Amino acid sequence: MTSDTPIRFQIIPAAPGAHLFEVICVIADPAPDGQVFSLPDWIPGSYMIRDFAKNIVQLWAGSDGRPLAVSKLDKSTWRCAPCAGALELRYQVYAWDLSVRAAHLDTTHGFFNGTSVFVRVHGREQHPHLVDIRPPVGEAYGQWRVATSLARTDAPPLGFGGYRAVDYDELIDHPVEMGSFTLATFSACGVPHQVAITGRHHADTDRLCRDLTLICEQQIRFFGEPPPMDRYLFLVTVVGSGYGGLEHRASCALLCSRDDLPQRHQPEMSDNYRGFLTLCSHEYFHLWNVKRIKPAAFTPYELNRENYTTLLWAFEGITSYYQSVMLLRCGLIDAAAFLEQLGRIATRVWRGAGRLRQSLAESSFDAWTKFYKQDENAGNAIVNYYAKGALVALALDLHIRRTSGNARSLDDVMRGLWQRYGQSGIGVAEDGVEHMAKEIGGAALAGFFDAVVRGVEDPPLAELLPQFGVAFELRPAEGGGDKGGRRSKVPADKLARRPVLGIRLAESGREAKVAQVLDGGAAQQAGLAAGDVIMAVDHLRATRASLDALLVAYSPTDSVTVHAFRRDELLVFNVVLQAPPADTCVLTLREDVDDDAVRALRDGWLQGA
Ligand SMILES: [Zn+2]
Repeated sequence: MTSDTPIRFQIIPAAPGAHLFEVICVIADPAPDGQVFSLPDWIPGSYMIRDFAKNIVQLWAGSDGRPLAVSKLDKSTWRCAPCAGALELRYQVYAWDLSVRAAHLDTTHGFFNGTSVFVRVHGREQHPHLVDIRPPVGEAYGQWRVATSLARTDAPPLGFGGYRAVDYDELIDHPVEMGSFTLATFSACGVPHQVAITGRHHADTDRLCRDLTLICEQQIRFFGEPPPMDRYLFLVTVVGSGYGGLEHRASCALLCSRDDLPQRHQPEMSDNYRGFLTLCSHEYFHLWNVKRIKPAAFTPYELNRENYTTLLWAFEGITSYYQSVMLLRCGLIDAAAFLEQLGRIATRVWRGAGRLRQSLAESSFDAWTKFYKQDENAGNAIVNYYAKGALVALALDLHIRRTSGNARSLDDVMRGLWQRYGQSGIGVAEDGVEHMAKEIGGAALAGFFDAVVRGVEDPPLAELLPQFGVAFELRPAEGGGDKGGRRSKVPADKLARRPVLGIRLAESGREAKVAQVLDGGAAQQAGLAAGDVIMAVDHLRATRASLDALLVAYSPTDSVTVHAFRRDELLVFNVVLQAPPADTCVLTLREDVDDDAVRALRDGWLQGA
């Protein structure tokens, strides 16, 4: 046995109508006392145990054509009886999860992540892994091609055939799409980039490629050329309504709504398209921040149990800040749109009482059971480490810029992390980000991490932003659809007189269904619960669309009668309405800045690097 004997896989979309991939794995030199193998329980980047092995339908093991006994050791792990020659495993994987996290196969296309289909051969993880990706059988599939960032061996470009990975870790980090997708290409800093779009669409791919080129080159130059990969692939699945993204070392898998893509003859930047570019910018930034600047807890990934770290806020939050910074710096959005994006993120944070109960470090650590398994009480109990993490990144950036007169910034922290950890492959210790921030930011950051990362304090934006000529305001929401970030057209005193029930409604359906009851709010005090369907307010019928308008007739402290169904029982509540909380954030450029130092700080932040 040598360390370069490859593990060989073949994957065949054997039964697209039944959503079954057939996988064959050949191990030339199986462990003499019986080979152990397993399927991962989670996919890196999405921190939840998903038990992918539950989708294995049938598994057969054999050697030299004769079947071998296989025993199951736990939900995801098997052991074969010892054999003299090569070991062959054959199994079917049921693939009917249209997300970026698993595998999907039907008669229109196939998609898989390696974590869903390729078993890990224990003790052989460091060996090279070869994959033969076979086409489905039948004339109907004659036009199918393959899009993946896996390195080709004998497969033609975009073709079925041979691919390779240096080890198992790489094998599962290149998702594969097969079908009759649209392909567009561009070059960023000399590196070839592909965009493969699956699903019906009328996207202006020329414009998409132009805009993505700006984003990618901005980020490559930010961390320094050459980039850490020699090719990159955006795998985009278009549906009527959907959203998702997952980062990989040389690609990302995205799920978007059809109208998120730019349409031909539509020159303006729609909100949806801006959102899509923001998602692309986010996943691309992960090329550095989490795929290579990686927590020590993920070095290596343990794929059959939770991997705990208090640092997810730094990988997702800092990335969520830079997703917008990069769009601003490459000119795809202006300062007003940038501040609107930050205002929306801040609104998400300020609207959750959970931010006063759970710290960012705790939210990161418990992501597996809390952030990824949110229930109706999540807003009251936990903080979103993406959103608050982005605000902490913003506060850090402003802190460092202010104390250094714009000579240093969060950019230097990120480049420092890249040089110390990303380029060396050393995992970031739990205090590594804080250490680097303090090296760059100095004594001014004493206490910062205790307060806003390990503690539950709000980031000091109300104090920092005015020093950069930006106003930070909190106002009441206009109604259920108000995502924040924008000034209200309704005067502030009028907004403050609109009473609220203290609930959030489910975002779909005609009914006024309570999704969440806010802690300390009017609904909670009256006894309304998540899942209740509000039928009437003071005997007038309520729907999701009409509830806000029904309440406008009242003032805070008025009492109303609310009829609601809980399951199939009609209940009556006496609700004492409350004044609306000022939980909607608006960041705006102040026009009246006459202090040159403030102007210089603002220009450095919003125009500079
Ligand atoms: Zn992310």
